[in-house]
Amino acid sequence: MFSNLQDKLDRAFKVLKGQGNITEINVAETMKEIRKALLDADVNYKTAKSFTDEVRTKALGQNVLTSISPGQLLTKIMSDELTNLMGGSVTELEITKNPTVILIAGLNGAGKTTFSGKLANFLREQKGKKPLLVAGDVYRPAAIDQLEVLGQQVGVPVYVDRASEDPIAIAVAGVAEAKRNGNNVVIIDTAGRLAIDEALMVEITAVKEATQPHEILFVVDSMTGQDAVNTAKAFNDRLDFTGVVLTKLDGDTRGGAALSIKSVVNKPIKFIGTGEKMEALDVFHPDRMASRILG
Ligand code: GDP
Repeated sequence: MFSNLQDKLDRAFKVLKGQGNITEINVAETMKEIRKALLDADVNYKTAKSFTDEVRTKALGQNVLTSISPGQLLTKIMSDELTNLMGGSVTELEITKNPTVILIAGLNGAGKTTFSGKLANFLREQKGKKPLLVAGDVYRPAAIDQLEVLGQQVGVPVYVDRASEDPIAIAVAGVAEAKRNGNNVVIIDTAGRLAIDEALMVEITAVKEATQPHEILFVVDSMTGQDAVNTAKAFNDRLDFTGVVLTKLDGDTRGGAALSIKSVVNKPIKFIGTGEKMEALDVFHPDRMASRILG
């Protein structure tokens, strides 16, 4: 997001060299520039402002050691602050129950079905789990086929019921199937819509009530900028989800979405999607995202 941030900061602080600390005037100018860069990267205004305010307070009066430049010092302060804002450290999935029920929610095209496959793969390969995928998108027959293909690819069974148009009944039957077959994680892929609407919210809330999931993961396309934040807020208000999955961070990446979403809904980001392949999934590391945002 910031090209040559460090150079820029060093230039901004050139006059400071040898003075020994960071002063109000220099910080104010620099923070204005940084706020602009954050806004350009789809960080919402409130988040950008509280971030720069916090960094300014921390930077002022700090002694600039002779071994590091003011730019380096400020970058370090910003990186620490960004890491903190994004949750500090990795937040693990809660997968100790048997079976653990994980509900996947989000708009159409966000990457729910792809993520469901990736998560099944991750839990099987890295956590030694025995997952069952449940095809709950009854409105899009292609989504059921897609999940079956992904399940086959990652070696995880998929529960489908093509005769049913009732996503709640399918989800409940999927959990029962998992209990019968000894699957210790159930991943329920749900239907989305192109935009947030009442019918979608009512339906997904009913699936939540009926299955009592241990994790509700909200999947969102990181390329959708400010919309990603609004969607996250709408879903969280209704679903009170337990974590966020940011997809498509392999594209024209908008690291800003991570910062905004975390600060608006205050829920941990748990995974990031970095491609279409089943292996293209990473656990979210706030410090790594901070370096990426700072460029
Ligand atoms: P759903 O409607 O929410 O189930 O979305 P899909 O899982 O069908 O994904 C929509 C499109 O986005 C598909 O073409 C996926 O291959 C693609 N996709 C999903 N996740 C990622 C990702 O992390 N990176 C990239 N580049 N593409 C992704």
